[in-house]
Amino acid sequence: MKRSAYSLTSSEWKENLLNWEESSHVYPFLLDGLYKDRGIWDKHLSKNLKSKIEINYELELPTLVNLQKSQDGTTKFLVRFSDGLEVETVLIPFHKRYTVCLSSQVGCAMNCSFCYTGTQGFKRNLTSGEIVSQYLLARNWLKVHDLSSPQPSIVFMGQGEPLHNLDEVKKAILILNDSKLIGVGIRQMTLSTAGYLPGLQRIKDFPQVNFALSLHSPFQNERSKLIPINENYHLEDVMRALKDIPLLPRQFITFEYLLIKNFNMTDEHVEGLTHLLNGQKAIINLIPFNPFPNSTWERPDETEIENFKDKLVKNKLRVMLRRTKGSDILAACGQLKVEKLARTKNAGSR
Ligand code: SAH
Repeated sequence: MKRSAYSLTSSEWKENLLNWEESSHVYPFLLDGLYKDRGIWDKHLSKNLKSKIEINYELELPTLVNLQKSQDGTTKFLVRFSDGLEVETVLIPFHKRYTVCLSSQVGCAMNCSFCYTGTQGFKRNLTSGEIVSQYLLARNWLKVHDLSSPQPSIVFMGQGEPLHNLDEVKKAILILNDSKLIGVGIRQMTLSTAGYLPGLQRIKDFPQVNFALSLHSPFQNERSKLIPINENYHLEDVMRALKDIPLLPRQFITFEYLLIKNFNMTDEHVEGLTHLLNGQKAIINLIPFNPFPNSTWERPDETEIENFKDKLVKNKLRVMLRRTKGSDILAACGQLKVEKLARTKNAGSR
């Protein structure tokens, strides 16, 4: 199987040109042709160079198998890779711009009790090319459907635990960020982790993206009920690792907090959160739990949500309330599980 052309950094393309004994002056045309307009290759690249690229690399993007649009404009793409495995990528409208929610693995090994993806288990890591390709598919679709929208930003909140696939995710971030290739600002990217400590401990030379921790409870034992890896990778150690991440003056760590009825919304939780986040540059992102087929947890009602939020604000915490988007098509982040049923149903329309 050929390697995806979208898994190469710009310096790898430069090396290729050297190895192929091609003039370095075609370098910008090669990159622009790959990412902007393939017509540039016809104009500026020799037949010989074009065939070298085509022989060595896969230029096709993965297949867009299905697309679902939610009432609020959220669009969910079902993306199939060459081995037949599929992930979902979600395009979410947000204040006149869009965010692409990328998957980093097929399935997930973390097995969190509130997460739909976890119920399908772990299949495999995605390569950097497969991660970048999801972005390109969503961006290309947007170019046709919403001409005026700026380059979408990125959250790693789709299927998978990005720090459990650190090397490929890191490479994808470098490619996505490189202005010679795609050029998404590094601060326009947010990586969300369940607190996978072996990954967190290796991010010293990681690109300076925004980080988010799926916190969901300030208490060690309770958090383990939601996020099983918390038993081995204790919250205390995760918090210490997060403190080591250098932050720019107006940069914060986001703490995602799932709101679950009768579970993690008491006054003790307000105090626990206040204590835990003391001294940390933090924004709390409240996310009302989104039910899925056979889920055991429940979503709180609006007054409970507002009350909990107000109490946190009273304690001088920075709080955002994320209104779940795309819930009518199960496109909420963390709800990305490819349904067998949906797949067969759509098979006829391919
Ligand atoms: N593994 C990473 C990224 C994937 S989950 C992580 O754990 O952060 C992305 C976000 O979606 C997480 O904050 C997760 O807690 C949230 N999420 C998962 N299932 C959800 C559900 N049923 N309702 C609402 N949010 C959910």
